[in-house]
Amino acid sequence: MRVVRVVPDVAGIAKEFDYLVPPELSDQVRVGTSVRVALGSRRVAGWVVTDEVEQPAGMSLRPLLAVRGWGPPPAVVELCRWAAWRWAGPLCRLLATASAPTLVRSLPPAASTGGPPETTSPMGPVAELAEEALAGGGVAVVRLAPAHDSFPLVEAVLSAAVAGSGAGVLVVVPARQVADELAGRLRRRGASVALLPEQWASARSGGVVAVGTRAAALAPLPSLSAAVVLDAHDQAYHEERAPTWTAWQVVAERARRQAVPCWLVSSCPTLELLEAGRLVAPSRRQERAGWPTVEVVDRRGDDPRRGLYSEPLVRLLRWAAGAEGRRVLCVLNRRGRARLLACQPCGELARCARCGAALSEGRDERTLVCAHCGAQRPRVCARCGSARLRVLRVGVSRAREELEALAGTFVAEVTAESGDAGAVPEARVVVGTEAVLHRVRRADAVAFLDLDAELLAPRLGAAEQALALLARAARVVAASGATAADATGAVEAAGEARAERAPGRLLLQTRVPDHPVVKAALLADPSLVPAAEAPVRAELRLPPVTACALVSGQAAAAYGPALAESAGPGVEVLGPVDGTWSVRAPDHRSLSDLLAAVPRPPGRLRVEVDPVRG
Ligand SMILES: [Zn+2]
Ligand SMILES: [Zn+2]
Repeated sequence: MRVVRVVPDVAGIAKEFDYLVPPELSDQVRVGTSVRVALGSRRVAGWVVTDEVEQPAGMSLRPLLAVRGWGPPPAVVELCRWAAWRWAGPLCRLLATASAPTLVRSLPPAASTGGPPETTSPMGPVAELAEEALAGGGVAVVRLAPAHDSFPLVEAVLSAAVAGSGAGVLVVVPARQVADELAGRLRRRGASVALLPEQWASARSGGVVAVGTRAAALAPLPSLSAAVVLDAHDQAYHEERAPTWTAWQVVAERARRQAVPCWLVSSCPTLELLEAGRLVAPSRRQERAGWPTVEVVDRRGDDPRRGLYSEPLVRLLRWAAGAEGRRVLCVLNRRGRARLLACQPCGELARCARCGAALSEGRDERTLVCAHCGAQRPRVCARCGSARLRVLRVGVSRAREELEALAGTFVAEVTAESGDAGAVPEARVVVGTEAVLHRVRRADAVAFLDLDAELLAPRLGAAEQALALLARAARVVAASGATAADATGAVEAAGEARAERAPGRLLLQTRVPDHPVVKAALLADPSLVPAAEAPVRAELRLPPVTACALVSGQAAAAYGPALAESAGPGVEVLGPVDGTWSVRAPDHRSLSDLLAAVPRPPGRLRVEVDPVRG
């Protein structure tokens, strides 16, 4: 009798179980198939993960109860197994993500790709990048300036990959709206597209371009000829629930396994991305042409009591108020903000000398402490030695009314909670959290009222995320088509290179004008941020120099010490701090092997590999 191994869809059960395949179900059962089985006294759903299992002698096995429908193909089941090991989480969670949203009983015929779609995009800087990326094969990190359209890259992958192979192409994007638009553009070019998750069945049949967000990394294409991840730096690719997997890493592994090209496209590649493949970057001239003009307003000289509004900002607001059709967005995040201390005489912000994060006041009145790396120093200004430091008070709640008073025009407000894009009125000035950069599609200029709260936030990757925010804003202003000169208002641009820049303008209010993020935007050179981050990560032994995991929950009290006992050379298990243990290993293999080897005690346990916080 044929025996298969099944992973039950029950998160608390990490085991696999063997079942007999009844002859009447035999043709429908293969690796990946969704089945129903008896488990103890329960009937549960599950997936076949191994076929033709050798039957143990003297064991009486129970039969499969039913076939529920199609599941992921064998290559994706194996990929899920890898991801479950890599992020130390239950395999069933990943198999569920890889499965159809509703049961699929039969598949449509496989698409015949009918040759590559017609390429109509003009040859240009992006086509040159594509050529260089294709030439090398393997995983490439393709740096594309924010104002430049990524569609010609996707077309180039398609025409190179599809040619006659019958295998599918995977395109993963950070947001649903982007997926919808991209699918539409590809269809107009004649490509067979499966938009995930709803067209799961056509992707499972194969031969299509599968397009979707994070979960599409596990799209059920039976075979792959190429893969692309757009805006690979986007935080949306990180799953927050355990297993805390990252979509672009899964796509890169998938492409490596099938030995097909994979492009991770980003205007501001992070250190993690840069480790994943070879960098393909545009020429300096081309990259400058893809970033807007950036104006840096150094606020160190301003009276801290002046609050959020510098003179250049006020001029920009009045320019926007001055005529119909103009629009300025003001970004002011409310959550995850650093509390900033500024020196009263010289305006310098109190920053950690080790990691660069904002310092806050310690328990006694003479010390400053870093919430990110724990460093401490005396409570004096590092620049002028003055002890007169004061907390910058940012009147976030009143920002809208204050901006309205300064601009002399109606100011609309957008937050993550405030309705959809259609609800944003045609206001000339809009203020909001970074959500405003997702809701409003076009603006002449974006002003960051308090960039320092992003730059100096005491968390891993704060600088990279701040640059990503500026890149996002750069894309919004590029869509305006306004020339830099149009959007300057009374602001005098730094005459240098204005004509070489993309449309629109960014205005950055900061007390850290030399910060690598500010310089990267100003010079349109995103490589400055990872170059500055790398030595800090090495010094503090933070990812990607090491591999980290956080272990929390009631069962961590038993699991943490058990990990410490089994930890090999170079692996540290620290804690507990507020019930959380932290595991740091020299690489992912030793981290994941350790987490897999130590049996998990019963009770609630959260294992977060590559923690985003921390
Ligand atoms: Zn620090
Ligand atoms: Zn000072």
